[in-house]
Amino acid sequence: MAVIGFIGLGNMGSGMAANLAKAGHEVRGFDLSADAVAALTAKGGKAAASVAEAVTGADAVVTMLPAGKHVRGVYEGEGGILSLVRPDAIVMDCSTIDVDSARAVAGLAAEKGLAFVDAPVSGGVAAAEGGTLTFMVGGPEAAFEAARPYLDKMGKAVIRAGEAGAGQAAKICNNMLLAIHMIGTCEAFVLAEKLGLDHQNFFDIASKASGQNWSLTSYCPVPGPVPAAPSNRDYRPGFAAPMMLKDLRLAMATAKSAGADVEIGALAEQLYTRFNETGGESLDFSGIIRMIRGELK
Ligand code: NAD
Repeated sequence: MAVIGFIGLGNMGSGMAANLAKAGHEVRGFDLSADAVAALTAKGGKAAASVAEAVTGADAVVTMLPAGKHVRGVYEGEGGILSLVRPDAIVMDCSTIDVDSARAVAGLAAEKGLAFVDAPVSGGVAAAEGGTLTFMVGGPEAAFEAARPYLDKMGKAVIRAGEAGAGQAAKICNNMLLAIHMIGTCEAFVLAEKLGLDHQNFFDIASKASGQNWSLTSYCPVPGPVPAAPSNRDYRPGFAAPMMLKDLRLAMATAKSAGADVEIGALAEQLYTRFNETGGESLDFSGIIRMIRGELK
């Protein structure tokens, strides 16, 4: 079994690292939060006191960090992951970050002859804990094949999207679609409420009709129909609203430079900006139903 250095043990990383430990690997976890590291040791992992302690000598490295600046901070420069890892290690960044940062880190890794992939995920906290994430992977074919056995232990689907940065490109398009169908699902529930329909009853109908979508059936924004959804715990994240806004901003910047016309995506970015400014910042992204209902102004 392999030694894996795992950096970033937050909402997503904690479950992913635990699944690698459950598969029999020695997982050395590091996070800036001591509580997050302690939580991993309770799930079969080992505590590392620094990035260096986690990744030095490891067969594989996984990072699951908030945004591009955190990833570049941890990978680049003296004391960064790329200067510490074994030359034959496979290095995977599973964070959702901008394509340029992903390509910059991939370029530095290639200069050093290291195998690196961008491998962002879809699926949320429940999928991270259950080992049922979907990975979209960018990088050379050989690096993809080296990463696959580790990603398989954390996910139900591992799909190569293309060369460096292609995983992030696929993720940004996916999350723009997620924001759009979450807002649409919330609007449908709010209208249903006003028309006197019962939440569970409308769920039973729409989930078997053409309104069926992931935000409805796996992450329902009203409490009741999907017990694991954040709506059942007062919209505690989950997938925090600032993270969704980050992804939408990435999508809009990318769409602009690519010349893609994404009007509904742009509207979704405006709505998530307002949600973050009116009390949504500490909530799950599905909590936008509160703003749509007029509870946040
Ligand atoms: P999070 O904020 O819960 O976790 C990030 C962790 O990284 C935190 O524990 C933080 O302390 C740690 N960290 C930050 N800088 C660090 C550093 N320099 N060294 C070590 N640790 C550091 O975020 P999350 O919800 O787990 O999301 C992580 C990534 O996954 C993001 O890019 C997000 O967009 C993406 N994502 C999240 C979800 C979701 O449902 N939460 C779903 C898909 C993708």
